[in-house]
Amino acid sequence: MTPDDAILSHRETAIPHLLVADDEPRLLETLCALLRAEGYRVTGASGGRHACELVQSASFDLALLDLRMPEVDGFGVMAALADHQPDCGIIVVSGESSFTAVSRALRRGALDYIRKPFDPEELLATVQSVVGKQNLLRDHEHIQMRLEKSEALHRYIVNSSPDIVFMLDEDGHFCFVNSKVEALLGYQPAELTGQHFRNILDDRDVARGTYALKGPNITADNPRTLEVRLKTRGSRRATRHFEITAFPIDPQTWPQGNGLAGDTNGRTARYYGTARDVTERKEAEAFINFQAYHDLLTRLPNRALFKDRLELAITQARRSQQQLAVMFLDLDRFKVINDTLGHAMGDRLLQAVTQRLEKCLRKGDTLSRFGGDEFTLLLPSIGGHDDARQISRKLINALRAPFQLGEHEVFVGVSIGIALFPEAGESLDQLIQNADIAMYHVKARGKDGYRFFSPSMSIDSAQRLNLERDLRLALERDELKVYYQPQVCSTTDRIVGLEALVRWQHPERGLLYPRDFLPLAEETRLIGLVSERVLDQACQDVGEWIRAGHPDLRLAVNLSPAQVEHPRFVETLMQRVDAHRFPARNLEIEITENVIMSDLEQISQKLRELATLGVRIAIDDFGTGYSSLNYLHRLPIHTLKVDQSFVKAIRSNDDGACIVNAIVAMAHGLKLDIVAEGVETDEQLDYLRGLGCHQVQGFFYGPARPAEEIARELCGRREKAASF
Ligand code: C2E
Ligand code: CA
Ligand code: CA
Repeated sequence: MTPDDAILSHRETAIPHLLVADDEPRLLETLCALLRAEGYRVTGASGGRHACELVQSASFDLALLDLRMPEVDGFGVMAALADHQPDCGIIVVSGESSFTAVSRALRRGALDYIRKPFDPEELLATVQSVVGKQNLLRDHEHIQMRLEKSEALHRYIVNSSPDIVFMLDEDGHFCFVNSKVEALLGYQPAELTGQHFRNILDDRDVARGTYALKGPNITADNPRTLEVRLKTRGSRRATRHFEITAFPIDPQTWPQGNGLAGDTNGRTARYYGTARDVTERKEAEAFINFQAYHDLLTRLPNRALFKDRLELAITQARRSQQQLAVMFLDLDRFKVINDTLGHAMGDRLLQAVTQRLEKCLRKGDTLSRFGGDEFTLLLPSIGGHDDARQISRKLINALRAPFQLGEHEVFVGVSIGIALFPEAGESLDQLIQNADIAMYHVKARGKDGYRFFSPSMSIDSAQRLNLERDLRLALERDELKVYYQPQVCSTTDRIVGLEALVRWQHPERGLLYPRDFLPLAEETRLIGLVSERVLDQACQDVGEWIRAGHPDLRLAVNLSPAQVEHPRFVETLMQRVDAHRFPARNLEIEITENVIMSDLEQISQKLRELATLGVRIAIDDFGTGYSSLNYLHRLPIHTLKVDQSFVKAIRSNDDGACIVNAIVAMAHGLKLDIVAEGVETDEQLDYLRGLGCHQVQGFFYGPARPAEEIARELCGRREKAASF
């Protein structure tokens, strides 16, 4: 049974209450008895006044009224009923047969008219039909009310849905949108109805969104769901993500034009759908995704994403037979800054560094934070070494200017190792590892520079362990030797100095050069012991030669960055020198520009101390590092050593030669001594002489040789000089 059936059956079973009013007692009684016998509930009124009283105290479904009654007539009772019980039906039962009276009664709302004397059957039939009509009317009203309530309820449900609920016509115009659209997107439902739904789709989703509804086989059972971005009202760029579920309305199952007729705006709704705001979920997903593949501090890709992109780039490079470069960048001095200024400053520095590095890159390059102060850079298509070199220089230069961290001005450098595909490795791991190894070599050589990986650098960890153990043994067994390379005055051919260069007489591998073991020594801090040994030996050897008749002979020793950066560097150096009674004025230490720049304040303090003690200071490999000329006149520097690469360039007569010219001119201007390194040919020697650069060092005068050979040579020369 439906609720409406229930109402009807309730109506059928309810017994109608009838009011019968007549001033003639016998007639009243007969009428009442007749109606009661028919099953009605009947209340009799002995006249108009009595009837009016009853109207105020009880409720009636139907009144049978005599028209002509004393005091208050039938019309009077009708008026009372109209006031108090407008729903009560009225039948006039009267001897009055004039047309005016009857029509007056009907105008005032009487439903029927029965003439006295009445035929009981006719009377009962009339009563029954009026009661039936009234019941119908009442039921109709009731149903109408129920419908209105039900519609209000559905409207309430639709409008208070957390989702946008909408209907579209055949072409995609809105027929209906619930009021949620205002809260979520800012549109009034009225301004959307009649508009095409593509007007609120984000431009990027228009094609997909409009196509989705056209697709075949979407039905109420198989609705279409899709995620789209919808534009909010006002700013065109603000979009929110929605998950839309839509299906076509089957005209068979949904009677159109009913119920929501007003809302459908005269259009025929063909699609029904809901749009759920999933923006927060999308944003959370996006964030989780971002977090999984990015470093949150710098917002750069992380290790995982870098490897992903590298893998892809390798595949592409292999297919198109191109090169690519992987760079491993490690900041110099970051740890010191982080430790002294705190992690918050360290974080800010990393962000600032990232910004500067990013400015050097092209679209398609991937810079990632690999961890700590390590970055990796992927250059997917690169011409070769020259391109990589150029970019490295750009990166190094970008970090050269100081960083302002609050009130602190800090300098960081960067050491860059480069691995080119395919020459330095064909796999992802190989390339990263080899770039890392190359980076270590930069660090060991004084930081702040770049180097390409070469197979001689790669020592696997087992070999590395062996080497480290061997090096410790070498120190015990005294396998480290000091060789000396003469620094010669090119006008007199006299040896003015000797540069001490370490060698390792390895029992199995033969004579090893610094490049084979110094990087490892740096890493393992064995470098301190190695340097001590070299200094001891050199002071001993050269001290002897000085005392044997070469009082001006200079000893040049190379110092590693770690040594110079050590807080007690000056103290330990001088202890060793004094222990051998080596004259400080005969000692020249060689350091690189990068060492100085790593901590200008500290290092210049140390250099000043040494200079006051008489020790000379030389800048090694001059021109390849910072080349920041303005520190030169502020520091106690005695000698510039022109890097071999510039001397080599003399032969080809290109820019390198110009650099030599410039360095020599500058050294003269600053009244510094100058030593040209790596001189191998007559031509180079002539050129340098022409410039006024008279101290030279290189294979032209011989490589570094063991002490005995040098002693012999010194002795020979002295004898030669004496015999003139
Ligand atoms: P460096 O100070 O630039 O030394 C010059 C390097 O050039 C030496 O290589 C030397 O043998 C080489 N050389 C000299 N003349 C010529 C030439 O005419 N042509 C060519 N092609 N090369 C020439 P070596 O001995 O292999 O040393 C390499 C580097 O290792 C040195 O570069 C120096 O930075 C470092 N080193 C050497 N001995 C020591 C040491 O006892 N302590 C420290 N800390 N570093 C050292
Ligand atoms: Ca040197
Ligand atoms: Ca050098």
